[in-house]
Amino acid sequence: MANCQLLTMAARALITFSPMTDCLFCKIIAGSIPSKKVYEDEKVFAFEDIKPGAPTHVLIVPKKHIAGVDHLTEADTEVVGYSHLIAAKIAKERKLEHGFRTVYNVGPDAGQTVFHLHLHLLGGRQMHWPPG
Ligand code: 5GP
Ligand code: ZN
Repeated sequence: MANCQLLTMAARALITFSPMTDCLFCKIIAGSIPSKKVYEDEKVFAFEDIKPGAPTHVLIVPKKHIAGVDHLTEADTEVVGYSHLIAAKIAKERKLEHGFRTVYNVGPDAGQTVFHLHLHLLGGRQMHWPPG
């Protein structure tokens, strides 16, 4: 492979995965802030929520910094579907066969507090609808 191709690939990887220095979840992904890791691969990182709202409360986050659902681009659609696939796998591992909930909070009205895209996986108790 030509050197310039390698450089282009390296630059792309850097842009895709370069953490935001002031982002809590980028720091968790990088390991500079500790977390209870549940799952990791090249695309996503999953960890226990620090303040669980249910017996299972796992956050699945893309390694790429994306501020939220309202900041998604076409390039991000794959990781959104993939995050759900990982959520379903974790739910299966935890035997949540009676059901579970996946949630993205978006913006202040929905109570989003961390501005790095994260899918909540909640389960292990009866969920209510509509949510509060
Ligand atoms: P949001 O309200 O933005 O949808 O969800 C943010 C979630 O991140 C909350 O459920 C909150 O408990 C969780 N959280 C906030 N800070 C930390 C942290 O330092 N570590 C972990 N593991 N979870 C966190
Ligand atoms: Zn981030």
